[in-house]
Amino acid sequence: MISENIQNLLENIKAAKNIVITAHKSPDGDSIGSSLGLFHFLKQFEADVTICHPDKAPPFLEWMPGFESVNDLESQEDKVIDLMSNADLIFCLDYNSSSRIGHLEKYLIKSEAKKVMIDHHRDPDMEFCDIVFSDITSCSTAQLIYEIIIASGYEKRINQEVATALYTGIVTDTGSFRFSSTLPKTHNIVAKLMETGFNHSLVHEQIYDANSLDRIKLTSFAMLEKLEILHNGMISYISLTQNELKRFNAGKGDTEGLVNMALGIQGVRMAVFLKESDGIIKMSFRSKGVIPVSDMASKHFQGGGHLNASGGKFVGNINNAIEKLVTILPNFVKENKALFE
Ligand code: 5GP
Ligand code: MN
Repeated sequence: MISENIQNLLENIKAAKNIVITAHKSPDGDSIGSSLGLFHFLKQFEADVTICHPDKAPPFLEWMPGFESVNDLESQEDKVIDLMSNADLIFCLDYNSSSRIGHLEKYLIKSEAKKVMIDHHRDPDMEFCDIVFSDITSCSTAQLIYEIIIASGYEKRINQEVATALYTGIVTDTGSFRFSSTLPKTHNIVAKLMETGFNHSLVHEQIYDANSLDRIKLTSFAMLEKLEILHNGMISYISLTQNELKRFNAGKGDTEGLVNMALGIQGVRMAVFLKESDGIIKMSFRSKGVIPVSDMASKHFQGGGHLNASGGKFVGNINNAIEKLVTILPNFVKENKALFE
């Protein structure tokens, strides 16, 4: 798939004057890491390269080289609209449906630029991009970008900035190399990235050892007061209301990882996190083994993602979201009975 598309991609990169890199709403380590990795790589060609995201990245990624080059529609509306309308090549990173980029979607659809998808989520929409690199077996979009750079013959252009960004994407999307999506080749790729000489332990420190005291207290509160266990200890969920989030001054990214802690309990096979935000309830699903939480997200909560990590939403109040979840679960457990044993 990579080799089929690579010539076409390179011709478009070389012909482009204005390249824009987009990624999904509510940025994470992979969307920012893959955006900045590609940005630092493409800067070595002729075109002007910019990054336009739907909304701001969480502060735990602010240290990344080139972070100041990430524009977002929420806080730089005029600039982003201008860049999107002048683009002749647009990259769509870490999402596979235009609905994943919020209000940026209408500018993407309107644009006559050639569009390139690089993504690793399930069920890609093949219609909105001209060139599609979709590999659902890839641990991260950052890893796919590395492979595309190698296939294009530009390995020498992987400098420390490119490597730091791609490493961050791979580390965050693999849960520091522990998810089953981590393959032997992931470690080979990371070894190659590390050979550029960036400080990998500093990357981990900046991502994982820089929590605010409020965030630690919010985590403690969630685990102590809000964790519920169902179905003989096999399913756990945590819900947080807007008031509870306010009490701990929660900002972007501060609830990331809570759902993994709920999953990390002995005997728990599946975990759900529900978060109230501006009239909708954002849902996160995680599972062990091959329990397909992406099915639950796409069938019942207008979402999708990966087999073991997916997300969606519920329109309404948090109690109704919990009620819907608790009502659906017995059937879901029955349908996947063997996987819960
Ligand atoms: P998280 O729970 O960390 O927000 O998301 C987990 C995974 O599910 C990510 O790979 C993310 O891209 C995907 N995901 C999260 N929310 C949505 C959503 O609303 N729709 C779809 N299709 N995927 C989502
Ligand atoms: Mn990703």
